[in-house]
Amino acid sequence: MQTLVMKFGGTSVGKAEAIRQSADIVLAAKKDWPRVVVVVSAMSGVTDALLKGAHSAAAGDAATFRTIAADLRNKHFAALEALMPPGAQGQARAEVLTYLSEFEALCHAVNVLGEASARALDTISSLGERMSIHLLAAYLQSVGAKSEEVEASDLIITDAHYQSANPMSDLTRTATQARLNPLLDRDVIPVVTGFIGATQDGVITTLGRGGSDYSAAILAVALDADEVWILTDVDGVMTTDPRIVPGAQTLAELTYREISELAYYGAKVLHPKTIRPVIERGIALWVKNTFNPQHPGTQIVKDNGHTHGDIKAVTVIRG
Ligand code: ADP
Ligand code: ASP
Ligand code: MG
Repeated sequence: MQTLVMKFGGTSVGKAEAIRQSADIVLAAKKDWPRVVVVVSAMSGVTDALLKGAHSAAAGDAATFRTIAADLRNKHFAALEALMPPGAQGQARAEVLTYLSEFEALCHAVNVLGEASARALDTISSLGERMSIHLLAAYLQSVGAKSEEVEASDLIITDAHYQSANPMSDLTRTATQARLNPLLDRDVIPVVTGFIGATQDGVITTLGRGGSDYSAAILAVALDADEVWILTDVDGVMTTDPRIVPGAQTLAELTYREISELAYYGAKVLHPKTIRPVIERGIALWVKNTFNPQHPGTQIVKDNGHTHGDIKAVTVIRG
C-alpha cells in the first residue's frame, strides 16, 4: 500500500486560511494515496515565543511568559474560530488551554529556579506542535475527514541529547508502526507533531530548530513510506533564499548531495538531517509550496551524473 508523508511548516499552519489550504492539499492527496501521514510544525512564531517565555522567566521576569501565554491563546483561538463553528472547537480549545497552563506552570518553575535546563527548554518548546496538531486535525474532522492527532513522543524514541536528540531507529520503527498502522488501516489521517520525540522513559526531547522536516523523514523510514513532501511557503528549493534575492528561481530537480550541501550550509528550506534517512531507503523527496499547489516544486533525486561543474544555488550562513 502506497504511503505518503506530508510535512507542513509553520507558515502553512500559521493562520486559519493557511490551515484551510494545507487541509485541501491533504484531502487532495488522500484521493491518490491510500495511506497519508501528516506532520505539522507549530504555528509560525510560536516556538520562538515559547522559548522567549522560558528565557525571560529564567532571567527573573515573572510577567512576560504570562503575556505570551495570553497571546498564544488568542492566536490559536482566532484560527479555530475562523475555521469551524463553535460546536466543533471544544476539544481543540481544551487542548490549547491545557498546554498553555502547562507552559505557565513550567515557566513559573523556571522563574523560581532562576535557570532553564536543556530538558526544561525541550518540554517548553514542544508545546507549539502539541497545540497545532489539534487545529489541523479538528479542521479535517469538521469537513468530514477521518483524522486523529498523534504526539510524536509516542512514535520517535530518542536519546537524551536535549535540543538535538537522536532517534533510535529500531525502537522508533516498532513504536511508529504499532501506533500508526492501525489508524492507517482504518483510513484515518494521523496528524503528528513535528520537532519532538521522547526518551525511552517518556521525557520529551526535540530534534533541533527546524526539526519537523527531520520528523517527517524519520516517520517515512519507520513506515517504509514511498514519498515525503515538504510543504513550505516557497515554490521549492531555489537558486538562493528568495527573502534575500527576490529574483531567485525554483530548481526543478536537485540531487540528494546538492540539497544536503545547501541545507548544511544554511539554506533553511530543509533541515540538514532530513536527507540521509530518505536517501538510504530510496524514498522520493519533494519540496512544494502550500500556497501554490499547482507548482510541481523541487524533486530531490539520486545523483544523475549531469551535475558536475554546474553551480545550482548559492547559500549563506550569517555571522
Ligand atoms: P517551514 O516553516 O515551512 O519549515 P522555513 O522558514 O523553515 O519554512 O523554510 C522556508 C524558507 O527557507 C523560505 O521562506 C526561504 O526564505 C528560506 N530559504 C533559504 N534558502 C532557500 C532556498 N535555497 N530555496 C528556498 N527557500 C530558501
Ligand atoms: N517549530 C519548530 C521550530 O520552530 C520546528 C519546525 O518548525 O520545524 O524550530
Ligand atoms: Mg523549516
